[in-house]
Amino acid sequence: MIRKVAVLGSTGSIGTQALEIIHACPELELHSLLCNRNLDLLLKQKEQYAPLVTAIASPRGECPDGVITGPEILQKVIDGADTVLNAIVGSAGLRASLICRDRGITLALANKESLVVGGELLRDHISAGGIIPVDSEHSTIFRCLHREPRPVRSIVLTASGGSARDIPVEKLQTAGVDDILNHPTWDMGARITVDSATMVNKAFEVIEARWLFGGIQVDVVVHPQSIVHSFVRLEDGSWKALLGKPDMKVPVQYALQYPGRELELISDDGPLDWGTLEFSELDGRRYPAFDIVMRAGQDGKTFPAAANAADEVAVAAFLAGKISFGDIAVVIEEVLTGHEALEISDHETVMEADRESRIDAERIVRRLC
Ligand code: MG
Repeated sequence: MIRKVAVLGSTGSIGTQALEIIHACPELELHSLLCNRNLDLLLKQKEQYAPLVTAIASPRGECPDGVITGPEILQKVIDGADTVLNAIVGSAGLRASLICRDRGITLALANKESLVVGGELLRDHISAGGIIPVDSEHSTIFRCLHREPRPVRSIVLTASGGSARDIPVEKLQTAGVDDILNHPTWDMGARITVDSATMVNKAFEVIEARWLFGGIQVDVVVHPQSIVHSFVRLEDGSWKALLGKPDMKVPVQYALQYPGRELELISDDGPLDWGTLEFSELDGRRYPAFDIVMRAGQDGKTFPAAANAADEVAVAAFLAGKISFGDIAVVIEEVLTGHEALEISDHETVMEADRESRIDAERIVRRLC
């Protein structure tokens, strides 16, 4: 059976790796491509992989022949697909996830914000088995829980510590963009690399894991080598883990082929460089934004949506050189303090919280500049 795949966010780090995988796996077929604004790369991908539909969300000028844009593009790229890889960056990815929910289409989810800001809206799709996680930690947990009949005590997500882990705490506040973008183990997009340095990414992953794995306790441990990709702790005293090189192709391929038995070798299967595997507690002084976002996760409602919007604005301002690294946590905390949270009943509630929080965050950024 050929599986037709829509790749949303095709020009990003996950998207480009997914295209290689789809190309290498005969049972996967590329159905459509969607990117935000990188038209040059999109046209190269269209030429190389010949999808049925090619779309761009934010073109700078006229769209060339064969490339569509406009308010209906999400429906057009998703229609006719068997699996949607959602690798859109940020809360903008939620709408695509909701379309998959409405149509009962399998969602290979790399857009963790869908669950962070709108987990409530995706609850039924998760219970129906409609979401296969692509985030490396969640893919690991998903694999460890697959056909595991024993009760689970907790999940432990590993965190590399990001690029901030080796910078002395007193210098962190003023760390430069280059220092922060230089991630020690994972090669990823700019936003998630900054989010790894603040550990906001890990707090988002805790929220994501709670939605995906139904209220199991979630803990975090720092593991600088990024070889153990998370743990499941069972009630019988045993622990399960998945080990491997830090390579996103493994979880992307697993999600796209799930529950298939096919195996085309795409990732590097060379020997692991063991060195020493280290594990330590997360140092709260180094990562103040982690606790702030964790609290937003515990408070629920639209608090995580506000935290995410504040973080998106703050990270963009940091990358643009407007605020310092330490200010990212300040922006998130202030936005959350002023946020009037609502219960989430629909997409509009989430987007309204998102819009308001962005305005608040931009005001705070202007003050800090
Ligand atoms: Mg991850």
